[in-house]
Amino acid sequence: MNDGGDASRLYFASSPDIEVETPLIKESATALAAWAARPGEIFTVSDADGVGYRARLVSLDPPVAIPFVRLAESHEGCELVLCQALPARERFELILEKLTELGAARIVPFSSRHSLTLKERDASQRKSHRWPHLLQRASRQCRRTMLPELSDVLPFEAMLQEVHEADLALILDVRPEALPLRQLFATAQTPQRIALLVGPEGGFAPEEIAQAQQAGAIAVSLGQRILRTESAAIVTASLLQYRFGDLG
Ligand code: SAM
Repeated sequence: MNDGGDASRLYFASSPDIEVETPLIKESATALAAWAARPGEIFTVSDADGVGYRARLVSLDPPVAIPFVRLAESHEGCELVLCQALPARERFELILEKLTELGAARIVPFSSRHSLTLKERDASQRKSHRWPHLLQRASRQCRRTMLPELSDVLPFEAMLQEVHEADLALILDVRPEALPLRQLFATAQTPQRIALLVGPEGGFAPEEIAQAQQAGAIAVSLGQRILRTESAAIVTASLLQYRFGDLG
């Protein structure tokens, strides 16, 4: 739905020196277009070793930037894919902004038994066309190295493909039988890719949780208090970052 993901990363063509104009790789045009970059703006540009630099863009054609700060070696831990049941009102916009700041690599909105559909959500005022712009704005603000990839709104069953593709998949479950997240953290190895499934205001239907478990997801609990869906997504992403390192 947007031009996010790895294709939006910016790279120097050679190892840069601080305060020296340095060309970006020839293929930067697509990434610069995805960011709607303009000369004078600051971005995070990586060298061939993956070290990031804050750099001011000098020109787009040819693509040239001046690095002015070398960032610490990258500690990116694992990729987070947030699968979020489509919530009502402005909650999804809040989730997009905060999960961008927290480093989610991919965001997959989905409809489920108790969630709205995109049509219902857009009925009063069409907001979904603003989502790519919101991700771009949040990514610029927090100076991410890439834009999160935003998927179309998927039906629940299609979203489960993300569970298959992750090496750790969690479904947030308010029922008492769910495993406390703290307990999972005590034994889990750092995965490369985590899929996190968050339910809508009306919660997941028990059959949906069973389906996700059959696909390989672990039902986990954040404790006895019922959080709003946006709080659950933000808190869990923060905890995952604390436990597994910077999300990338
Ligand atoms: N009445 C709903 C229910 O019984 O499921 C409450 C849904 S809650 C507002 C929205 C979603 O946030 C839930 O479906 C779940 O994915 C997540 N969530 C909220 N609080 C949670 C908790 N304490 N533990 C695990 N997940 C939680």
